[in-house]
Amino acid sequence: MRVPLPAQVLQALSTLEEKGYEAYAVGGCVRDYVLGREIHEYDLCSAATPDELRACFAGKRIIETGLRHGTLTVILEGTPLEITTFRSDGQYSDARHPDSVQFSRSIEQDLQRRDFTCNAMAYSPLRGLVDPFGGVLACHRRQLKAVGDPEKRFSEDALRILRALRFASVLGFEMDEETAFAALRLSNSLDRISRERVAKELNLTLLGEYAADALRRYSGILIRTLPPLAPMPETPQKTRFHMYDLWEHTLQVIARTPPDLSLRWAALLHDSGKPAAMTVDEDGTTHFRGHPTLSAAIADDCLKGLKQPLRLTHDVHELVLYHDDRFGPDNLRKWLSKLGLDLLTRLLRLQYADIAAHAPAIARRADKTLELIPMAEALVREGACLSLSDLQVNGDSLIGAGIPKGPAIGETLRYLLEMVLDGKVENDKEALVDLAQEHMREIW
Ligand code: ATP
Ligand code: MG
Repeated sequence: MRVPLPAQVLQALSTLEEKGYEAYAVGGCVRDYVLGREIHEYDLCSAATPDELRACFAGKRIIETGLRHGTLTVILEGTPLEITTFRSDGQYSDARHPDSVQFSRSIEQDLQRRDFTCNAMAYSPLRGLVDPFGGVLACHRRQLKAVGDPEKRFSEDALRILRALRFASVLGFEMDEETAFAALRLSNSLDRISRERVAKELNLTLLGEYAADALRRYSGILIRTLPPLAPMPETPQKTRFHMYDLWEHTLQVIARTPPDLSLRWAALLHDSGKPAAMTVDEDGTTHFRGHPTLSAAIADDCLKGLKQPLRLTHDVHELVLYHDDRFGPDNLRKWLSKLGLDLLTRLLRLQYADIAAHAPAIARRADKTLELIPMAEALVREGACLSLSDLQVNGDSLIGAGIPKGPAIGETLRYLLEMVLDGKVENDKEALVDLAQEHMREIW
């Protein structure tokens, strides 16, 4: 096997080898090469200790990323490269970080501490592939298999459980039976992982190409990190509008949304309020009145709990809150004015996915929602009046037309905008002034 490596990586590897230290590209880059996937970063490892690494790259810019654990970053021709000393990890007492690390001169030992066999491969142009645990085979089988005893490996570091979920989603892999069993059994220990790390892994999981499959297979792991979703898999949807139960419907919506973080989170959470909103008729028909408001509150809880950025939390809240509203050519300006083109476009994509994941009689209508996107774009392009500042009148012109100074001005402008958005008046100065005066007479 010959892995084509970028010039800076080759340079770093040969610098180390020339000084007598074994050196390899390792982990994700080797896995992604075997899978024929685009390689997005190259991590290197070497027999050189941190001090020896520093000496090898004397004169180059070095960032001491995690020197205690044997990691430093060298900048070669503008490209940062992370290089880690071969090591084996000591005891873990916090389900996340080794209490100590021992540097090692053996690549096999270094590979042994890595999480999954597909990630425990190293490659050097000089020495070829090092694959002591069958990583290539695991890639061909699309299998996530813990290196060593899965119970032990997940107990050492619970983040590996979420990494498994993430790799299942991104790569379309499945855990082998033993690994999956241990992951689920130990998923309680996910409580001990920092919320930020959980958020990072869940974000990557939601963006994965196989997100719906991974979340279907490993829903138990996901729910451990997002407890408000726990009732979803047991919630039926017995109405003629639906063909899936609540969880399968949710997964079908995720599968139909483009890989945008706010959209995927909104897809996951859009119906999370349904279990609490559910009522059942005598004939067994289910109703979920008012569920978007409850779902939006759950979305807030989940995203704030994970300390997600405010922007993401806000957008997901809006998408979830309005996912069930009615959108059409007649009210498009109103929605555009309320949400702006970017968020409205995402909302329409969410609603498309939602409708398409209903029973066929409903799903047939989904395209109608998508057709609104170019219409909204055209309204913006044509400079449609969407905000107070777009109105052909302002405070001064209203005062000139006899509207009293003070709060009446703002109130009248808002009224005029609403009438324009509803298509009840043209955005034309004379028409607006007339309407303003009429409105004034009505409210006095
Ligand atoms: P990607 O970069 O595509 O997200 P990766 O496999 O390169 O995936 P990184 O987080 O960059 O993942 O880690 C690099 C390598 O370090 C992994 O391939 C794996 O060998 C090892 N590794 C990372 N995190 C852990 C962990 N928590 N436990 C054990 N090994 C790990
Ligand atoms: Mg990586």
